[in-house]
Amino acid sequence: MMRVGFIGLGNMGAPMAANLAKAGHDVFGLDAAGATAEGVKQVETIIDAVVDMDCVITMLPNGRIVKEVCEKALEHMVSSTVLIDCSTIDIESARAVHAACASKEILSVDAPVSGGVGGAQAGSLTFMAGGSQDAFDKAKALLEIMGGKIVHCGEGGAGQAAKICNNMILGISMIGVCEAFALGEKLSLDPQKLFDVVSTSSGSCWSVNTYCPAPGVGPQSPADNDYKPGFAAELMLKDLLLSQSAAELVDADTPMGERAAGFYQKFVDNDGTGKDFSAALEFFKSAARGDSNG
Ligand code: NAD
Repeated sequence: MMRVGFIGLGNMGAPMAANLAKAGHDVFGLDAAGATAEGVKQVETIIDAVVDMDCVITMLPNGRIVKEVCEKALEHMVSSTVLIDCSTIDIESARAVHAACASKEILSVDAPVSGGVGGAQAGSLTFMAGGSQDAFDKAKALLEIMGGKIVHCGEGGAGQAAKICNNMILGISMIGVCEAFALGEKLSLDPQKLFDVVSTSSGSCWSVNTYCPAPGVGPQSPADNDYKPGFAAELMLKDLLLSQSAAELVDADTPMGERAAGFYQKFVDNDGTGKDFSAALEFFKSAARGDSNG
């Protein structure tokens, strides 16, 4: 059994830390807002969260905070401790954290997740990991408790690269599905009939089959709960903006990703904040042709 310091006990971090504790690990949790998690011993300082730990896990809002926390943590960490950052952050910050760890001979893994709060609670997250083989081997046992699928994507930063590519696809596909269901409604199509066709045809995808944005259609999704997140529109915007910074960094042409980021920016700036990202359907239902441009 390991001693694990867990920093960031928010919507995702709390159930992830609780699952590690439930599996018998000794988990010490630190959160700036004083959040706690079941079975986790609350600590008040970074020192208490990192000293004498086999592993330190971070689950924090953004790259700036991850860099700040890791900088302080590294002052007190020793080379036998592995650092696992599960936050979704920009690739440059992820690489900077790996470099800072390497300079102290500390093994590190970037391991962002897919699967949302439900997956965090169920211990069924998908982890996309980046880091050396040694670091991955050391982190794997803990990731397997919190996740159902663990993929070692490559060297440091590769996990974040996989995450933002996946979520760029998701943002683009959800917009496509919402456009189609709004168009269908304007063409007097019953959304249930459209679902029955698309979910078994070439338009099928996760955004239709698992997370259909049309209320009352398909499996239960945030659309059936007044678009309460789920996955908030502002988090989708964050991930799409990360994909666009990464694309700029490597001179990649991502026209649909760019449009999707622009769309979610507009949606969040108007009435999309606090709603699930699939509420884009409501936007298209009330929009006239061309409204999403500019
Ligand atoms: P959250 O805002 O609920 O949790 C973040 C926690 O970090 C908060 O409790 C906050 O108090 C704490 N925190 C902030 N600064 C801190 C500091 N300096 N020291 C200690 N604690 C600090 O966010 P979340 O939904 O749990 O998401 C966490 C990360 O996971 C984000 O990077 C997000 O993009 C990613 N993610 C979220 C989801 C989702 O569905 N919520 C899905 C996949 C990935």
